[in-house]
Amino acid sequence: MSVPDRDAAVALLRDAHEAVLVCHVAPDGDALGSMLALGQALRRRGTRVWCSWGEPALVVPEAYAFLPAQDLLVAPDAVPAAPALLVTLDSSSPDRLGLLADRLDTAGCVLVVDHHTAGEPFGDVRLVDPTAAATVVLVADLLDALGAEIDLDVATCLYTGLVTDTGSFRHASTTPSVHALAARLLAAGVRQDLVAQSVWDSNPFGYLSALGAACSAAVLEPDAVGGHGLVWSHLSDAQLSAAGVGLADVEGVIDVLRTAREAEVAVVLKQEPGGALRVSTRSRGAVDVGAVCGALGGGGHRFAAGFTCTGDVETTMALLRDALATAPRA
Ligand code: AMP
Ligand code: MN
Ligand code: MN
Repeated sequence: MSVPDRDAAVALLRDAHEAVLVCHVAPDGDALGSMLALGQALRRRGTRVWCSWGEPALVVPEAYAFLPAQDLLVAPDAVPAAPALLVTLDSSSPDRLGLLADRLDTAGCVLVVDHHTAGEPFGDVRLVDPTAAATVVLVADLLDALGAEIDLDVATCLYTGLVTDTGSFRHASTTPSVHALAARLLAAGVRQDLVAQSVWDSNPFGYLSALGAACSAAVLEPDAVGGHGLVWSHLSDAQLSAAGVGLADVEGVIDVLRTAREAEVAVVLKQEPGGALRVSTRSRGAVDVGAVCGALGGGGHRFAAGFTCTGDVETTMALLRDALATAPRA
């Protein structure tokens, strides 16, 4: 991240009369938190704001239902066709914008705010810092530069992105400045107990049977990943339907699978209703799964990454096994 880009980003936001804010499809806590925090701050400055992501129907995952300012959200078809300013958040490449990727061509100016390593450079002004623990860290810095108040509602959005992307302050990205920002947000009144309860400790009952199915079907391959070990499992659309849960409900399955200490890398393949596989990967730290998923058409970070593909489970696993065998060491 260069200083001119930060200055240019602040200038764009300071002068914006209207702004469209877009986060990545299948939004997580950082995507929603960074978008809604910036959206609130801009709206208070008098900017006309639309927030969205590129899926036909916007359904905020139950885990994030507590986030404030959801009145800023509009469906993609209600997003202006040619916005003066488009701000993309937590999105490493145009395809992560889904149905709204076309606004990259029609917007007067595109500001990219992100912390992913891999990805295809796009946009006019890029505030991209792979050392940032979450996109909300960059948004907090922008808000300070704009002199915007970080009140309870904004703080709740920022905290949610911070706590989710750091895995509850456990990942290596959790620096002293991450804790300093968290302390500031708690001082603004954030109820971290309620955030944690909603984000980590609240699942539909059907999640338990989906988790059980994924754990029973889990496979350990000690020789994979150059002898570092791989654990993987998959959940079909039929299994998800039988359990009465959707894709957003089973995000936590990978966090259980990756605890298998014999495996360096954990993989969960989840089938979308249309049949495509959404693949989540996690590394304990020896291999760069971000590079692997980037090469397979996805992206992410060194230790948490994903991709989507249309092949069947066996074909996808064969591709992934090959890529992991020669994965870059992190
Ligand atoms: P997940 O496994 O879905 O929790 O994603 C882990 C990380 O990989 C997040 O930073 C995602 O933004 C990123 N990621 C997941 N799927 C994709 C994809 N299809 N393309 C690019 N990045 C992805
Ligand atoms: Mn994200
Ligand atoms: Mn993020």
